[in-house]
Amino acid sequence: MADLPDTEPGELVRVVDARGRQAGVAYANPRSKIVLRYVARGHDVETEGLWARGIAAAVARRGDVPPGEARRMVNAEGDGLPGLIVDNYAGWLSVQLTTAGSDRARGEIVAALAEALHPHGIYERSDVPERALEGLEQRTGVLWGDEPPDLVEIAEGAARLLVDVRHGQKTGLFLDQRENRITTARYARGGRVLNTFCYSGGFSVHAALGGAREVTSVDVSGEACVLARRNLELNGFYDDGARTHAENAFDFLRRSADARERYDLVVIDPPAFARGRASLAGALRGYREINVRGFKLLEPGGVLVTCSCSRPVTREIFRQVVQRAAADAKRSVQIVEERGHAGDHPSLLEAPETDYLVCLILRIIG
Ligand code: SAH
Repeated sequence: MADLPDTEPGELVRVVDARGRQAGVAYANPRSKIVLRYVARGHDVETEGLWARGIAAAVARRGDVPPGEARRMVNAEGDGLPGLIVDNYAGWLSVQLTTAGSDRARGEIVAALAEALHPHGIYERSDVPERALEGLEQRTGVLWGDEPPDLVEIAEGAARLLVDVRHGQKTGLFLDQRENRITTARYARGGRVLNTFCYSGGFSVHAALGGAREVTSVDVSGEACVLARRNLELNGFYDDGARTHAENAFDFLRRSADARERYDLVVIDPPAFARGRASLAGALRGYREINVRGFKLLEPGGVLVTCSCSRPVTREIFRQVVQRAAADAKRSVQIVEERGHAGDHPSLLEAPETDYLVCLILRIIG
């Protein structure tokens, strides 16, 4: 147990080992369950300018981002900067400060981002429930430069996508799925496509650009469906071949299976069903159910792109659930690709829970 006399939430502290030698620098929060989070290891680390150095290094690791594209520039622990997420949407930065340590360093972080990236503006999206665990209120608003427009247009592979930086889910877009969306286009040619949990329709747009005959997109959020339709239109796809349904995906899948609908490509990308171990069993039932239905809707030779972003659901566990779902649906299935988060979302070797996204691309072979 760390002893933290007179330490302010988020303050940088030197961590020393039993012999009094500096092991590294961490930030402290006596009010959080996680009392110390390392920002740097080593006996000679200077606390001064630590966030700025970390940000400059994370930005340098990304290399040049093609103009107009979107990338995660800082991925919290994965970049050695716990509590800080920075997404770059064509020059508009969307920032989440999720811990007392990053919150306290807001000024230094903003200055470092402005210097390293010369953005049009920096917008804070610290409207995340985790902040409560750190004793922090939610916060949103302009931190630097101009206010982002209602929708920012970005390029993602061949697609153009509109991103609502100020009010969209997460920081505006689920950027961890960027490479999986682009890849999905390869499986869409000539087919009937169903994209469930579609949010702003990224998988749908890529499938349509990949030559899908017809794309149906489903999300429980009406706002998400409106944005998905706008994104499809922006890329030249209109109502006749690209429909959206604001509906619970579980209900939609059940109805479609009952009506003996058939698709050539089904995408299932739900929100995290399990947040902690307590909700694991229920989550696994949910994954099994939607995947059974997904398999049943596929034509022979059809492809299922199925994802989990639940931290407690490891790759191993997810593969097992999907395998059981295939057995329930009486389908013989091959694994075509086993994928994870995009390369700009590095996870940390020593923290396996930072490797949370699993994306399996499966083909029905019998
Ligand atoms: N595939 C998307 C990201 C999906 S995030 C992309 O590439 O951008 C999960 C989405 O599921 C959210 O948009 C959320 O509104 C939606 N959602 C949550 N519960 C749902 C449910 N029961 N049925 C349908 N959609 C749901």
